[in-house]
Amino acid sequence: MSDFCPSIWPEEPAPGTERNCNDCGLAEHGTRIIWGEGNPQAPIMVLLDNPGAREDRSGSPFVCGTRHTLQETVDSVGLEMDDLYVTYVLKRKPTRAYDKPRTRVICMRHLDQQLEKHKPDYIVCLGNVAAQSFFEDEEVQVKTLRGECHEVRGIKTTAAYHPLAVRRRPNLLRLFKEDWQYVADQFFRSRST
Ligand code: SF4
Repeated sequence: MSDFCPSIWPEEPAPGTERNCNDCGLAEHGTRIIWGEGNPQAPIMVLLDNPGAREDRSGSPFVCGTRHTLQETVDSVGLEMDDLYVTYVLKRKPTRAYDKPRTRVICMRHLDQQLEKHKPDYIVCLGNVAAQSFFEDEEVQVKTLRGECHEVRGIKTTAAYHPLAVRRRPNLLRLFKEDWQYVADQFFRSRST
């Protein structure tokens, strides 16, 4: 890829009432809540499965590969960092085995709160977990959802591959860029009308 330089997006803190949430039991995995990052008022909400690594062993923040690939691709299609807000199906990073379907259903109430508060114009689900959780359909797949707009929960929604999958399988990068070009085209078209 290019010499693009990723940046650490500002984190939106969890609301006070949710800061110590342990509704699903993931707090016992020892990871903190990441509520969201980027611009909370952004028109495009990006949904990932869960937060990745954010701090190294010494506690210094860094941009993980997922966010690097996402930021670089978004930049390449002309979107600004300010156009995006990133959040997660699970607000904590799991570190060991857990009951995935149950945990996702429990934590989705937080996403509902965010949708109510931020009212994004678009949702982009990255990866099958995010797509299946948001569409509330275990059968949907990115490969059949991508490149099209779907009305879900009253919001224009599309899907793209997970940036981590793109990093592992470089042949997906072209498709990932196509998907973000599609998002950018929709976004700029709506701005010009
Ligand atoms: S993942 Fe969600 S439901 Fe589970 S403890 Fe964290 S915020 Fe609460």
